[in-house]
Amino acid sequence: MAPLTFPAGTVTTDRPGPGNNPYGIPWTNVSRWEPLFTQAAGEAHVPPQLIAAMAVVESDANQYRTLQRTGTPDEVIGAVDNLDPHPSIGIMQVKPFFHQATLPDADVFTPEGNIRLGARLMRIFIDQTGSWENAIREKYHPGVSPNGTTPQMYVDTINALMAEMGGTGGDGASCPPFAAPALEGTLKVVNELVFHPARQTVRSKVNGLNARQFANTQACLTRAPLHTGETINVLYWVRGEAVGGEDRWWVAEDGARIWSGGTHETPDVAGPDLSRTATLVEAMRAAGMCVSQGPFESFSHAICDCYDFAVPVGTPLPALARGEVVEARFVAEDAIGDPDFVYRPGKVTVRSTDGFGDHVYAHLSRIDVGVGQVLEAGTLLGLSGDRNGPHLHLQLDGGHSPAGLNLTQILAAAGFDVNAFPRC
Ligand SMILES: [Zn+2]
Repeated sequence: MAPLTFPAGTVTTDRPGPGNNPYGIPWTNVSRWEPLFTQAAGEAHVPPQLIAAMAVVESDANQYRTLQRTGTPDEVIGAVDNLDPHPSIGIMQVKPFFHQATLPDADVFTPEGNIRLGARLMRIFIDQTGSWENAIREKYHPGVSPNGTTPQMYVDTINALMAEMGGTGGDGASCPPFAAPALEGTLKVVNELVFHPARQTVRSKVNGLNARQFANTQACLTRAPLHTGETINVLYWVRGEAVGGEDRWWVAEDGARIWSGGTHETPDVAGPDLSRTATLVEAMRAAGMCVSQGPFESFSHAICDCYDFAVPVGTPLPALARGEVVEARFVAEDAIGDPDFVYRPGKVTVRSTDGFGDHVYAHLSRIDVGVGQVLEAGTLLGLSGDRNGPHLHLQLDGGHSPAGLNLTQILAAAGFDVNAFPRC
């Protein structure tokens, strides 16, 4: 797991509790403990930024009263709360009286041992409660503190801290984008989950399925357990760790991943690195694409220089040409007055730096880039989606074609001979 990266400057998130009270501590106070966060999180199979955010909440990321990076055991922070007489120790404010036996070789009077025990406890609490939020609310910070801080306020603060970290690509390394393999097409029941590839859904047969975890592609965080009959739309599956003979991990529309069996491993995914190597033409070919509509054709393209490429939902979409992302947004189904309504749900516009104009990629089901991002040809933009049938709508926006080429010529210049594909 790659080490976490941190923002520059100070922590702007507010401390938990009533009122606006930003932490204001330098992020270097947190980053100085790396790689201990990622090592401990890797060992316990929890998100490293969760542990780093908790360290901020627990101790302003300090192990010692002196605020130094090193210190003696009697300089370690020890605090007694209103729950019991046993002190909370160090950077993660763990209570060895209750929890040392969980990880006997972790010396909580060292930063390494303290963070390891904190991460292990979170793993256990998540297993018991079904999500990291529940783990905080019910186990790590139960009850309302004397200053009025509720368990939910801790959750909110940790979320805000992780969002602050996420802006720097905090956990990108452990949640990479995936290539979409072919769907097998058979219904399969594994433990308490029903996988329905034809419908592209998974459904839980029981309530409170704790071992089923969801990971968000930004943060790899867990979510609340599935309830009975809950159905999740999924796009495709990837290969992960085999559990009970099943090694398929479903990828949901929002990028979450779902898997069966009592595992807490993050998926070990092989496959092409689409963020670097694939081209749009290769992705279209791999998806069995046919051209369903061309530029200025009368059905719905009468006024646009645009193609509809029919591909299954979830097809990875590498950028056609290098440039800068000038638009990346989702448009709601009820946003009828929105100028981008026809491009829903997801729209990305890339402004070419090679004189190829503004390229609109529409109907995306997932977006992996942000406005202002400078990208190469082949950078993964997101996944294709569905609008009147699964397809990618690719458009050259009018007025931005400095080199004087039309879209067909631009595609050809990028090695994408549209005429080599069948019409459908
Ligand atoms: Zn179209």
